[in-house]
Amino acid sequence: MTDQHDILQTPIEYLKGVGPKRAEVLRKEFNIDTFDDLLHYYPYRHIDKSQIYHVSDIVEDGSYIQLRGRISNVQVIGQQRTKRLVAQFTDETGSIDLVWFNGIKWVQELLQTKRDFILFGKPTLFSGRWNITHPEMIDPHAQNDSQVPMRFQPLYNTSDIAKRKTLDSKALAKIVANLLPIVHNIIPETLPDDMLNNLNLLPLRDALSNIHYPESNQHLSRAALRLKFDELFFTQLKMLMLKQINTTKSKGHIFSTIGDNFNNFYKNHLSFELTNAQKRVIKEIRADLGSGHQMNRLLQGDVGSGKTIIALFVMLIAIDNRFQACMMAPTEILATQHYEKISKQVAPLGLRVEFLSGSTKATKRRQILEGLQNGDVDILIGTHALIEDPVQFQNLGLVVIDEQHRFGVEQRAKLWRKNAIPPHVLVMTATPIPRTLAMTLYGDLDVSVIDELPKGRKPIITKHLFENKRLSLYGFLKKQIAAGRQVFIVYPLIKESEKSGLLDLMAGGEAIRNTFPEPEYGIGVVHGKMKPEEKDFEMQRFAKNQSQILLSTTVIEVGIDVPNATVMVIENAERFGLSQLHQLRGRVGRGGDQSYCILMSKYELSSDGRKRLNAMVSTNDGFEIANFDLQLRGPGDIQGTQQSGMLDFKIADISKDEKLVSYTRKLALQVLDNDPNLSRPEHSRLAKKVTEMLKSDTNWSIIS
Ligand code: ADP
Ligand code: MG
Repeated sequence: MTDQHDILQTPIEYLKGVGPKRAEVLRKEFNIDTFDDLLHYYPYRHIDKSQIYHVSDIVEDGSYIQLRGRISNVQVIGQQRTKRLVAQFTDETGSIDLVWFNGIKWVQELLQTKRDFILFGKPTLFSGRWNITHPEMIDPHAQNDSQVPMRFQPLYNTSDIAKRKTLDSKALAKIVANLLPIVHNIIPETLPDDMLNNLNLLPLRDALSNIHYPESNQHLSRAALRLKFDELFFTQLKMLMLKQINTTKSKGHIFSTIGDNFNNFYKNHLSFELTNAQKRVIKEIRADLGSGHQMNRLLQGDVGSGKTIIALFVMLIAIDNRFQACMMAPTEILATQHYEKISKQVAPLGLRVEFLSGSTKATKRRQILEGLQNGDVDILIGTHALIEDPVQFQNLGLVVIDEQHRFGVEQRAKLWRKNAIPPHVLVMTATPIPRTLAMTLYGDLDVSVIDELPKGRKPIITKHLFENKRLSLYGFLKKQIAAGRQVFIVYPLIKESEKSGLLDLMAGGEAIRNTFPEPEYGIGVVHGKMKPEEKDFEMQRFAKNQSQILLSTTVIEVGIDVPNATVMVIENAERFGLSQLHQLRGRVGRGGDQSYCILMSKYELSSDGRKRLNAMVSTNDGFEIANFDLQLRGPGDIQGTQQSGMLDFKIADISKDEKLVSYTRKLALQVLDNDPNLSRPEHSRLAKKVTEMLKSDTNWSIIS
């Protein structure tokens, strides 16, 4: 066993055709260190040379095709730049043109000596006639090995640097071809034989060979299926085992009582009736808190569904049980807002609530840290400054993470290290996450869903306008402001480093100031380059209705709650991602008044841009939007998932392989149901693989 393992771990430089120089490029450009890494560097596509087609088979879409026939009418035409070699190619069914712009002399000689060819290329229609530019020419009578047509040619992603250092797709294909015979017989199987047979899956070694050099189209798709299956199945198995470890092995504080704080607040200080969904979720959470095991729960709910109040109730339960609670938000503005709202809400209860962020002054900071250690502080609210090392609690019982996807799994784990018995963790998402994504990304968490908005909310009216409607937009804003309402205007800032958003904001602000002159109108500006105090000042002004228009970059995207604001104008809306647009829209419609979301865009839109804006106009439902977003962008681009490292699938694509995600989850559940520790002999392969995964997964070292 160990020997076999060793061969796969051989440094790539020792593979035939690689050597130290290429090894360095492979490592730097593709993260390929070992034989095993190369084996898992899959081609993105194959060229099908398994069949010879006819000229009459050529169809419009112009994909690659292999033909066999004769060359005639070879001639050079054109001058200088337009100079090209043209030849006619004919088989039993018709003829096409072949064209060369480069290497004319060499091709000319080749075509003089031989007339029969197998050729390979991509036909395009030019002036009503099919032609192939720079076809690959193969002599069908050649004895030479390298001239024998390959059945499937793998195409690998490569980079400019790698290409310059001779590692183009073809070179990669060659070294993979050198690798496969060496490793094929020693690739260890990861699935039990029973499972392979019952599910009719290819053995792993055959799948890995066929993903590079398929024997047939059918083998190729079976290989892809097997490899996708492995990625998804083992991810789920790992996540479910982690969840199991959490619930059975890791102890949790027992919050057995619902005490004065909770009851008092519920009876006397809650200004609205909880929705049924909110009540249900609180019940689900209470069950976790009483179980004796650590809670790890994800709270999903659309924008404005009222997640914050749930967080507050849960924190009150923690305090009723003599524990401290903390709440973490991704931005300073949002954390400040939570702090202000929550400290006001719990003021009658006489609790000590504190705020901590990177910008908290030293003296204040010292006081807070002291209060945390001696147990005076009941609730701590802040940014990720909360997870820095000097922050020590006397008795931390609960951590609430708002808009979690910005935090990443690593940070979440860091929090847990703060106590011997880990605190309960409640994670709240900013916008809904599609089911398949939640299963894979948060598969270790239990999930609660708020599927109901508070009563009396009017659906937000969303409109998509072009520049020609700007004047009437301004007229509309004036009417809304005259009626006492407030307006957000948001400008995109594509990347933190890009200044263009700021410039747009400044230029746009100019126009707004001209149309909405002071002192009749108060205008505030917020952007990421401002100091926290300045931002805070502007936000406060807006929250108190001292300014009626708030111009901002996307810093207001998450969580801001100003119920009197009824219009969200998004400039250059085509530049925003779908979930971002939905988040922004969620800033309005929080009070009882009819609210509007106006998407301004330029006339020419990319097809994706148009789809996004149409989706926004067509639905207010965050769960629908989330699914749409996943389809449109794929999981890799969904906000916040990139850095998580949890979705580094090489071949599975959870936006397309939805069925396989659910299927593998069901299967993983079944396996663990019968054998929770994977200790049965027939599961030894599964146990081995999962153990390896957990070992290499530093994020989770805390638990394993
Ligand atoms: P989100 O789920 O987006 O974080 P919030 O928690 O900020 O939403 O809630 C949005 C607004 O709805 C807040 O002003 C909150 O006070 C209010 N709210 C929450 N629950 C209810 C309810 N059951 N009835 C009426 N208003 C509610
Ligand atoms: Mg919120």
